[in-house]
Parts: sequence; structure tokens; C-alpha cells
Amino acid sequence: MVPESCCIMNKGRICNLPPSHIVSILSDNEEYMIGLVCSDHILLMKSKATSMQNSGKINKGEIRFQKIKPVMTDCVLNQNNTDQGGNCG
Ligand SMILES: [Zn+2]
Repeated sequence: MVPESCCIMNKGRICNLPPSHIVSILSDNEEYMIGLVCSDHILLMKSKATSMQNSGKINKGEIRFQKIKPVMTDCVLNQNNTDQGGNCG
């Protein structure tokens, strides 16, 4: 199941911006997804994931952020119109 919005909680409220990146942990030969974040919360997610690793809640390993590819939108056909965040310009 994939949540449709950013998984960051900020001051008790869930961020409901559309996610832009998949967050995953790459450990040994396994990679597993831990959540989705919007572009505003990449750094926050990175520090949260690091502290979760330090407290043993998730496996140690490289924290990876992969841009979610826009699908079924006009900008797929027209990649030059996307900005650095991958949004349609
Ligand atoms: Zn967010």
C-alpha cells in the first residue's frame, strides 16, 4: 500500500502535500521503502530516518531518495517542460 501524501508529521499535523520522492533504505542487497516525502521535507526525513536507524527502529544502510516519476501526464511527453523537482512547468 502506498500512501498518497508526504509521511512527515509536523507539529501534530500530517503534511498533505503530494509526495515527490520515495524514501528507501539500502542495506546489504535489500532495498525497502520506508515512506514518501514531498520536496519540502527531504532533509527532515533524512534526519528522522537517521535517528530511527540510530535507535534501531529501521535497518542501517544508505538512505535513498528517488524521485517519483510523473506518469500519465503531459509532461512525460514533454520532458523539457519539467523543472528540477520534476513538476510540470
Ligand atoms: Zn511534506
